Amino acid sequence: MLRRFSPTLVSFSGSLLKSESVFVLERPDRSLLLVDAGLDPSATHLFHGFAALGDEALTRLSLIVFTHRHPDHIGGLPALLSALGGRSIPLVAHEHTAEHFSEFLPEPSRNTIHITRTVKHDEYVDATLKLRAIHTPGHTFGHLCLLLEEERILLAGDLFMRLFGLLHPVFKKYHDDFSLWRQTLSTVLDYDWDYAIPTHRKPVRLPRKRVERFIQRMTRHK
Ligand SMILES: [Zn+2]
Repeated sequence: MLRRFSPTLVSFSGSLLKSESVFVLERPDRSLLLVDAGLDPSATHLFHGFAALGDEALTRLSLIVFTHRHPDHIGGLPALLSALGGRSIPLVAHEHTAEHFSEFLPEPSRNTIHITRTVKHDEYVDATLKLRAIHTPGHTFGHLCLLLEEERILLAGDLFMRLFGLLHPVFKKYHDDFSLWRQTLSTVLDYDWDYAIPTHRKPVRLPRKRVERFIQRMTRHK
């Protein structure tokens, strides 16, 4: 299902069971930037989403950035790259995500695809869109949130999730380092944004005040 959040930003979501979203950003020249690639190795909801954006949308895909390397964020990558028919595009992530990235890809593509450009904390992933990387290690050591500065929207990745109407950490067993997650969680509050959208469950815009209250609750007892 395709949802539009702003003139620049849409999301594609899978079925209820495959409850993760990917995000697509459009530059003024109409080229497209994808955030994450979902769980499904056949990338079905990515192809449906691109088809809904227009017949030639996939040909306009020009960069993919990953919030982190978990299989539900990179699983659709091999199928998607195959569909580009050999056209190579930058694959962007934090250096810690790049380190073991290809080990997390589904078979038979494991160890065959690698991150081609790393991005550091506070750098632009894309200067045209003013899409800034915010390094928030803990969920994984390379986890990035992505700030769409001009539209004041934070793509929060797995920094938290909304479950039964409440904000929660992503399940503890999926964290590389839960205490590091708590220590770095408030980094996103150093930046200006009005809404955050996490990857999992129905993609909705969460007002900043609500995210602030969650972060205060999580960081109160260190
Ligand atoms: Zn994750």
